[in-house]
Amino acid sequence: MSEREVEIGEIGEFRLIARIAELVGQRGEGVLIGIGDDTALLEPSRDFCLLATCDVQVEGVHFLREAISPSQLGRRTLAINLSDIAAMGGIPRWAILSLVLPPDLPLSWVDEFYAGLQSEGQLFQVSLVGGNLSRSPGPLIVDLTLFGEVEPDIVVERRGARPGDLLLVTGELGLAGAGLLLLRGKEVSREEGQELIQAFLTPRPRVREGRLIATSRLARAMIDLSDGLASDLHRLCEASGVGARIDAMRLPFPESVRRVARERGIEPLELVLFGGEDYELLVAVSPEDAPVLVRLLEDAGVSASLIGEVCPQSDGISMVFPDGSVRPLPSAGWDHFVRGKPHR
Ligand SMILES: [Mg+2]
Repeated sequence: MSEREVEIGEIGEFRLIARIAELVGQRGEGVLIGIGDDTALLEPSRDFCLLATCDVQVEGVHFLREAISPSQLGRRTLAINLSDIAAMGGIPRWAILSLVLPPDLPLSWVDEFYAGLQSEGQLFQVSLVGGNLSRSPGPLIVDLTLFGEVEPDIVVERRGARPGDLLLVTGELGLAGAGLLLLRGKEVSREEGQELIQAFLTPRPRVREGRLIATSRLARAMIDLSDGLASDLHRLCEASGVGARIDAMRLPFPESVRRVARERGIEPLELVLFGGEDYELLVAVSPEDAPVLVRLLEDAGVSASLIGEVCPQSDGISMVFPDGSVRPLPSAGWDHFVRGKPHR
């Protein structure tokens, strides 16, 4: 054997698929036929409906190969799909993966990618049941489809929020946005910085929490925060036909986010509202049920913050600033937000 790394273009598609099947290992639960036949054969649980979602990540658009390890990308690929299943209150089950790979990609990259995917899959009992490989003339592309299950009577949709409901968010916001800033800045020394970068590269999907929220039957509407609180709040409001008012003083974010933002001359709220990629859950819940749901989550070890309330659609979507002023909250763009006219 030479010292040179084997490239995937050298070993051919069939051998690569055989290698992947070996890496993926045995069939998971509900998998009657896994990788190797024309399709997978899956056995859904009785009285459950299927949830299906997919997410494509393109090198140069969604990630840079030099900024994320193959193992991290494998974990992340599954995690961002898991978050969507979580936001419906579902149980993740089976994944299908398409990889479009440049032929000079080292074989070790593929091995490490699958190792990351597998470790995330084991955490959430998801098995990979099929996929597709193709040669890419340029960027590396990773496209994952994830199936989950949920009882149709407890599924939580984006629509369902009503004026008077309170808005609850799990965990803390702005970490991934701060992590991305640090990655771009190329100055990562402190442990605190590593934590933020980790939050961006390998987010922790709120699968257990989403399930807890759905089975409690207390939530009226739910969405996961993939594009940022402002943007996803707009989506939930649009689906529900309502407006919302959030309170800047109640938005949960750690001191580390404040520090990173300040060091770079950015308002911390910019990361919290528009940073994106936090993969926390945003829930609308009636004022009577809100304390119960907060308690339920906290008892399960997850912080939960009530950050505002749902209003009639005619009130629009706005935020109360610490000085008491209220401004319309756009779905994106800090500059537009702070320069916009305050109202009332
Ligand atoms: Mg989503």
